[in-house]
Amino acid sequence: MAASAQPEAKVAVITGAASGIGRALAVRYAREKVHVVIGTYPGDPHDPQETLRQVEAAGGKGLVVEVDVRDGKQVDDLARKAHEAFGRIDKVVANAGILRRAPLAELSDEAWDDMLSVDLTGVMRTFRSCAPYLGQGSAMVAVSSIAGGVYGWEDHAHYAAAKAGVLGVCRSLAVELAPRGIRVNAVIPGLIETPQSSDPVNSLGPEGLRRAGTDIPWGRVGQPEEVADVIWFLTSHDARYVTGQELVVDGGLIVKMRA
Ligand code: NAD
Repeated sequence: MAASAQPEAKVAVITGAASGIGRALAVRYAREKVHVVIGTYPGDPHDPQETLRQVEAAGGKGLVVEVDVRDGKQVDDLARKAHEAFGRIDKVVANAGILRRAPLAELSDEAWDDMLSVDLTGVMRTFRSCAPYLGQGSAMVAVSSIAGGVYGWEDHAHYAAAKAGVLGVCRSLAVELAPRGIRVNAVIPGLIETPQSSDPVNSLGPEGLRRAGTDIPWGRVGQPEEVADVIWFLTSHDARYVTGQELVVDGGLIVKMRA
């Protein structure tokens, strides 16, 4: 009997993969033998080579590509380079995001536009650039937030607007891309311990996270791997009939009644 051909490894593109949830996801894909394109923002202080090292240590193959999701041409290049390197794209995760504190009186047009360009339009650009390479059975996931996705958050109207907008993008593209067999979903993380949430100026900071954790039914904030595993599921064959949905990953934070 002729030996059947070895199935070609699948390929994932992740933006913002030098740190936090993106890095944890790159490693999860590597463990699943999915090749990973590690999108990395040049201004990020974290070393994308460390993500690559962890991907390779997990037995995977990775490619680091610099990309600023505010620039459509760079995002086009990310998708093209991913396809050139590995010959296919199966999973796309629009994870890149920034968080800034800005009370309404200080919320300039520039701050608003910059936030939306990364956290909302950046998601659309990532999906738009990668979609032409995707085939039947592929999947895209955007990273929203309980801030905007579920709750309001004082001093963060621009972030919340972007993260709420992401859900509309995913629902609409889920319908639009269904005929091509492409699924589109969102994850809504709660409080996850990453560089973003550990920033005491724009977010809660380490002490704020520790305190907030005591009010979460699970008794603590989440770890990046706990979001990465859910994104893995949403982009896997096990979620093949799930599209246009949002999955909250928050240790029970939003369902707890507060008197
Ligand atoms: P993080 O800061 O480690 O990751 C964000 C990544 O986005 C970084 O790698 C950064 O370099 C990248 N990035 C920033 N600007 C970019 C740009 N212009 N172009 C390309 N990449 C850019 O923090 P994280 O918590 O892992 O964040 C990942 C995602 O999760 C973000 O979208 C964030 O808003 C979302 N999120 C985080 C939490 C949390 O509690 N940590 C909660 C809800 C949602």
